[in-house]
Amino acid sequence: MPNNIDQTTSRPLLTLIAPAYNEQEVLPDFHRRVVAVLDQMDVPAEILYVNDGSTDSTLSIMRQLLADDRRVSLIDLSRNFGKEIAMTAGLDHARGDAVVVIDTDLQDPPELIPELVRLWKAGHDVVYAQRETREGESWLKKATAHCFYRVIDKLTNVRIPRDTGDFRLLSRRAVDALRPLREQHRFMKGLFAWIGFTQIAVPYRRDERYAGKTKWNYWKLWNFALEGITSFTTAPLRYATYLGLCTSLLAFSYGAFVFWKAVVYGDAVRGYPSLMIVMLFLGGVQLMTLGVIGEYVGRTFNETKRRPLYYTNQVSLSMLAGAARAE
Ligand code: UDP
Ligand code: MG
Repeated sequence: MPNNIDQTTSRPLLTLIAPAYNEQEVLPDFHRRVVAVLDQMDVPAEILYVNDGSTDSTLSIMRQLLADDRRVSLIDLSRNFGKEIAMTAGLDHARGDAVVVIDTDLQDPPELIPELVRLWKAGHDVVYAQRETREGESWLKKATAHCFYRVIDKLTNVRIPRDTGDFRLLSRRAVDALRPLREQHRFMKGLFAWIGFTQIAVPYRRDERYAGKTKWNYWKLWNFALEGITSFTTAPLRYATYLGLCTSLLAFSYGAFVFWKAVVYGDAVRGYPSLMIVMLFLGGVQLMTLGVIGEYVGRTFNETKRRPLYYTNQVSLSMLAGAARAE
């Protein structure tokens, strides 16, 4: 086994985070292909496997790899938490100066890693792999994915790149920016975009799953989309507020109309105008106050995330303060 750990710092330059859930069929091949790529690159690297509560022999394969290859690190989660959390656990423990998140089902070609690293060395903080083609995916999946990106694009002012999975390289600065984002409902694609910094796309061809089967179905995808939208933006709440305002405006106008009719033409059906006006007024007031409550709920929701307010690319302060101290 080549000694790929930098002895001077014993810190890997590159950490690959590979979350896996029941991937026993692919894992050995995945490791072989990754190692082949890393050997060519000849940089100190760490392969951080995250076992996301697999029920097959994924964990024992990982343990074997851990024993055989000193570049391997292992996190074994206590149960299946889902890929987003598995990735987060990886990010928490990654020690590399650059971190690559990669699927273990070989849909993300490890051969792309040198290119990601090259662009990182050229000064980019987030280098994301962007699918050119979606091989082996039905038109329905493509269409729903397209719709999803359209909707989320409209709802947020964070630009989430299309046709990107989680396969990407993050600089140490980007990883450190992601780590304080501890929200329970994690929409990683959104968070990756939210942190900002210089981001760049690398087009690639996404292969079909090598073996095993996808953990996604339409129900899960729908929930993922809902999760993405509701955890990332309070826009739906805002729309509900406007809907409430419009409806209550209509209700008030109709109430006024009923009142006017009663004054001009008299109370033909006894009790109807007063009943109607009270009903419309109460309904309108309720919808409006719900809207107000919604606004506060939205704010509470955003505050509970306790996200840092901003990140900076560079801060250069004038020399004045230092000069004053030197006097
Ligand atoms: N994965 C995981 N936990 C899960 C589901 C999936 O760690 O609960 C891993 C899985 O092993 C794979 C990656 O996430 O490495 C992508 O999963 P999958 O191939 O099912 O998703 P798809 O490629 O179809 O989007
Ligand atoms: Mg896959």
